[in-house]
Amino acid sequence: MTGESAKIIDGKAIAKKLRAEYHVRVERLRDQHGVTPGLAVILVGDSAASQSYVRSKIAGCREVGIRSELIELPATATEAQVLEQIERLNDDPQTHGILVQLPLPAQIRVASVLERISVAKDVDGFHLYNMGGLVTGSTVFSPCTPYGVQKILEHENIPVEGRNVVVVGASNIVGKPTALMLMQQDATVCICHKKTRDLGQFTLLADILVVAAGVPNLIVPQMVKTGAVVIDVGFNRLADGRIVGDVDFEGVRRKASYITPVPGGVGQMTVTMLLHNTILSAERAATATVSPFPLRTTA
Ligand code: NAP
Repeated sequence: MTGESAKIIDGKAIAKKLRAEYHVRVERLRDQHGVTPGLAVILVGDSAASQSYVRSKIAGCREVGIRSELIELPATATEAQVLEQIERLNDDPQTHGILVQLPLPAQIRVASVLERISVAKDVDGFHLYNMGGLVTGSTVFSPCTPYGVQKILEHENIPVEGRNVVVVGASNIVGKPTALMLMQQDATVCICHKKTRDLGQFTLLADILVVAAGVPNLIVPQMVKTGAVVIDVGFNRLADGRIVGDVDFEGVRRKASYITPVPGGVGQMTVTMLLHNTILSAERAATATVSPFPLRTTA
């Protein structure tokens, strides 16, 4: 499919369908095991953006029947206070997922916080063990945004095996894990970043182009191969208040075969995958007597 006919992928509709399935899984857990999945969210400080992300995560929990607990700490909180909360939640059998909303205030080391979360409850997938598992294909939870990208491709029946995938953006939470996950599915993957010279020479090779740079209009039509699948992870608020992705949507949709809009594309999937991971964690806890995963990898 080429020309004017790019299919606009409706992330909202995919998320809605998946959430309906997750609701059924939550009911099954309750009926068969008397278990309600529980997600704990730790929010440090009062950033408006973080508060808004946390609100949508908690609303998602409510929608599918997950119990949520919000732990709010002041911006002056110490690392020890955050770790203390994590330890409590690691030991709480009613908590199946623990999420620390990022970014954290400067006095708190992100790595030490993320590594204190029990791997079996690391539903964001940011623990070093989970990140390492992406390399070997044995991760316990897939990180939510890359997992959302993968689910979109699956939902649209877009084959990945043997195709050229170019990922623009190399962050630990989006670009790198997305590249690794698609490589596990036997794509030929290239990762680009700020220092990549002549970005267009790489993006033009992409059968599937995933863009997660945080730069509006970074990808214009002449950088896209005719018929490519374009997944725009970018989420940028312009001075006039509009939300846009990293791709020139109007231009590129005329050249691509599939494209995700912003908003209404990948963004809808990130929280949905968090809900999935929390339910999966509760299912594992309900059906296994001993966790197959290292509960702690640090003291
Ligand atoms: P990030 O940590 O700032 O990383 C951005 C990456 O893009 C870096 O690897 C950077 O390169 C690269 N980059 C920046 N400018 C570039 C350029 N001109 N050409 C090529 N590469 C460039 O951001 P992030 O957390 O990965 O997020 C990326 C975007 O996705 C943001 O817009 C964010 O809001 C959005 N996002 C959306 C969701 C969602 O649910 N939809 C979730 C997470 C993030 P260097 O490594 O060289 O600095």
